[in-house]
Amino acid sequence: MITPDKSLKIDSYTMSGELFGKGFPKGGGPCACSSVCCEGGVYVDLHEREVIMAHRDLIIRHMDGTQTTESSRWFEPDVADDPDFPSGQCVGTQVINDKCVFLDAGGRCSLQKAAVAEGMHKWAIKPLFCVLYPIEVTNGIVSFDEMLQNEESCCTIGTSFETPLFEACREELVHLVGTEGYEAMEKHYASLNSGQNSDVNSAQNSGMNPAMKS
Ligand code: SF4
Ligand code: SF4
Repeated sequence: MITPDKSLKIDSYTMSGELFGKGFPKGGGPCACSSVCCEGGVYVDLHEREVIMAHRDLIIRHMDGTQTTESSRWFEPDVADDPDFPSGQCVGTQVINDKCVFLDAGGRCSLQKAAVAEGMHKWAIKPLFCVLYPIEVTNGIVSFDEMLQNEESCCTIGTSFETPLFEACREELVHLVGTEGYEAMEKHYASLNSGQNSDVNSAQNSGMNPAMKS
């Protein structure tokens, strides 16, 4: 008999059961829309803010007229304590023209645009929680951010699926837990499917405090 708790421990993270028990229908999956998730901005680690500010000249070159090139206006003044960030503290990006200060008029992130244009890895200066979205980490639990569930089909998951969530977000999860960690997830999923696999554990997904600010 399969335990209803399908979660998996990898290092300090608990991979929520819904990563394996929910997913996208055929043709579905994240990152097929115009970045509606970026409208409210995001919380970033203080170290990530330093990295962004160190690249400010480069980033400014990839902004447009709907964004401010005044880097002193890029982040909110208040710093908050949050143990899910490596430094233990985070700060929000500012919302200007009803969108994250780093989102351009075409719905593209200037941080990623700048990195790619300058020959860096696409996520070199992008905040972790932006990379991961719609995956979130709260209190060490890695799960699905329901912010756009039933609002954006590309960010809506269900118990009837063709691609499990952890597979749809493979690149993002490798970024978080590494190749070995991801392989452990694949083994976990295979073992769940070798027996009865009908229960879905989404209990960990209640009471979340997602990093995306919308
Ligand atoms: S993560 Fe979801 S909401 Fe954000 S751009 Fe991708 S599909 Fe759209
Ligand atoms: S930093 Fe980039 S990816 Fe993150 S919310 Fe802002 S525009 Fe979106």
